[in-house]
Amino acid sequence: SKLEKTILVTGGAGFIGNHVVRRLVRNYPHYKVVNLDALTYAGNLENVADVADAPNYSFVKADITELEEIRSVFTVYNPDVIVHLAAESHVDRSIENPLVFVKTNLVGTATLLQVAKETWKGDHAGKLFYHVSTDEVYGSLGETGFFVETTPYDPRSPYSASKAGSDHLVRAWGHTFDLPIILSNCSNNYGPYQFPEKLLPLFINNIKQLKPLPVYGKGVNVRDWLYVEDHARAIDVIMHDGKQGETYNIGGHNEYRNIDLIKLLCELMDKKLDRAPGTSEGLITYVTDRAGHDMRYAIDATKLQNDLGWTPSLQFREGLEKTIDWYLSNEEWMAHVTSGAYQDYYAEMYVNR
Ligand code: NAD
Repeated sequence: SKLEKTILVTGGAGFIGNHVVRRLVRNYPHYKVVNLDALTYAGNLENVADVADAPNYSFVKADITELEEIRSVFTVYNPDVIVHLAAESHVDRSIENPLVFVKTNLVGTATLLQVAKETWKGDHAGKLFYHVSTDEVYGSLGETGFFVETTPYDPRSPYSASKAGSDHLVRAWGHTFDLPIILSNCSNNYGPYQFPEKLLPLFINNIKQLKPLPVYGKGVNVRDWLYVEDHARAIDVIMHDGKQGETYNIGGHNEYRNIDLIKLLCELMDKKLDRAPGTSEGLITYVTDRAGHDMRYAIDATKLQNDLGWTPSLQFREGLEKTIDWYLSNEEWMAHVTSGAYQDYYAEMYVNR
């Protein structure tokens, strides 16, 4: 019979987390999937509404920085595997308000590690603490080269520094306390259910509403884009087949300069919305660059491919079309997440400066 396990996913109401939760709930009916999320501005139970009634799914609202709260969750659910995604995740917000990043990403990760250690009491058979992280911990590349798992850490924003610190904490609990750990560091994700503060959903929404498209600096910064379901599948593969103590880089081998990506998006959106060519591109406005803006990220995911056989499944154009279609056909979701506090945030970041 299949091994029954309890998988605790933190941050499962967020962008990547909902895809991980959905995949685990659907593909592994013999697992109990517990979604732990504090439901910050970025967490939204609408993102997991389609699995909410599944018999192997539960949701628990808790804050990873609250030791006693996390202890009681572990007492109730006694998880075998923790897939840790909960974090503050937006670089721009980390520049405006860095301390909450330090609290959530560092204190929160340490709290989970400590409670996992207390709960498992050295009995590590079938146990795993899987930490989900970013390629931004490696710093910024010039025009050539790729990040590999052994690239020295060189984080440069409060976001990436707090994620780098969280990676170090996970390795420290692994080394010092023999906690069974695994890490992965992934490039930029895109796809359905991403909060519209991040480039693609922000721009899709603005194009739809014929609002300006604020491009940082000259738009020449380069990012490597991966469809979020491919990331969720990589997490699934690493969780099941990855080697304990190891780190895996995840990426799409799909580099775009921001401005080229935005122009492609504009072209596709004009077609989908039946607008004259050039309509969307006319909305581009260049704004003051992000402070400390990293120039280029690019991941070499050879280890994951060679050791575990994972490769991205979608061509970028196909993924981008799917993404646009999803946002255009989920207007209600967009209306809900952009009501209330989002309006203040948007005004502060893009209008009143
Ligand atoms: P997100 O901001 O969409 O979601 C984060 C989730 O964590 C939200 O549901 C939020 O409510 C929850 N959360 C925040 N603080 C919490 C707390 N104190 N206690 C409990 N829950 C809390 O982020 P995302 O884009 O889905 O990223 C998920 C993870 O993947 C993060 O660790 C991020 O660093 C990492 N990552 C993201 C990307 C990307 O492109 N988005 C790429 C690589 C790695």
